[in-house]
Amino acid sequence: MKEILEYLQGYQGRPLKLMEVCGTHTAEINRNGIPGLLPPSIQLVSGPGCPVCVTVTEYIDRLIELGKEPQNVVVTFGDMLRVPGSRCSLSEAKAGGCRVKMVYSPMDILRLAEEDREHIYIFAAVGFETTAPVYAMLLKKALEKGIKNIRLLTSLKVMPPVISWMCAGSADCGIDGFLAPGHVCVITGSKAFEGLAAQFGIPFVVAGFEGEQILTAIAALVKLQGKGRVANFYPSAVTREGNLQARAAVAEYFEPADAAWRGMGIIPGSGMVLRKEYEAFDAGSRELTEDREKNSACCCAQVLTGKIKPSQCPLFGKVCTPQTPQGACMVSTEGSCFNSCYN
Ligand code: SF4
Repeated sequence: MKEILEYLQGYQGRPLKLMEVCGTHTAEINRNGIPGLLPPSIQLVSGPGCPVCVTVTEYIDRLIELGKEPQNVVVTFGDMLRVPGSRCSLSEAKAGGCRVKMVYSPMDILRLAEEDREHIYIFAAVGFETTAPVYAMLLKKALEKGIKNIRLLTSLKVMPPVISWMCAGSADCGIDGFLAPGHVCVITGSKAFEGLAAQFGIPFVVAGFEGEQILTAIAALVKLQGKGRVANFYPSAVTREGNLQARAAVAEYFEPADAAWRGMGIIPGSGMVLRKEYEAFDAGSRELTEDREKNSACCCAQVLTGKIKPSQCPLFGKVCTPQTPQGACMVSTEGSCFNSCYN
């Protein structure tokens, strides 16, 4: 590790902007104080890999509308509760009578729906390639058990199209290398990023989540600058092909679709929705097509694409704090703004 640190701290090449795509990497980079170990010429920025952060405001509004209908109960992970909708968050809506339940696993909805057939249980199915297999498993179990009062409101996204969108200049973010999303790569395999690396001449390094693993991957990105290559520095979990079984399970229930990303608009082919044959389990996901930011001064889109640091947002730490979040990036523990507040 001493050698890696010496190499990075002695770097005297051109300034580099490196992006960690995965929200868990963002949290670990900050927890380990990694930005403080790098010279000013190596800048780390966060990407669009926190599922809560990239969820559009309209999605929260739609969950609230659904939870107000007497036959429905909205079920969600805890970190979605405080994300601002255009008028209020799910947590605030719950205080006003909206039916919302928090769970720790999507599979918990099976028990809830089985024990209460009078209501329809709607899961806030956000996530990336990593989480989609769990939703596929949930549907498989629901079908096996004959549970019909479950719906998914999906906001499922896939990584390569949004990275392609950024590299193609739509976001003008000038990234010199990517720490590829380790959890996503477990499912997709490192191969999923080979085409992007070759097309844009940018290196991708798959990294683990320990501080030393992240620093090693950053050093590899510095060495690979200008080269369109993928290197896997997380071989204990990631293969080139990925988890074929999980991908087959996802493909059975979901199909590619365009998706709306917070502040970035619709990116073609960057999402997944339930296949037509399973639309009885869908709560209207295909209708989510726009973004309505609660606070127009919120700069989540620029933060999520690496154009600015959270501290450059005019609301950061003043109007927008972890206690009074104005955007999703300040809510999630994987959010760039949240993490910047504590480091
Ligand atoms: Fe949005 Fe708050 Fe982050 Fe600014 S500090 S970009 S308002 S979440």
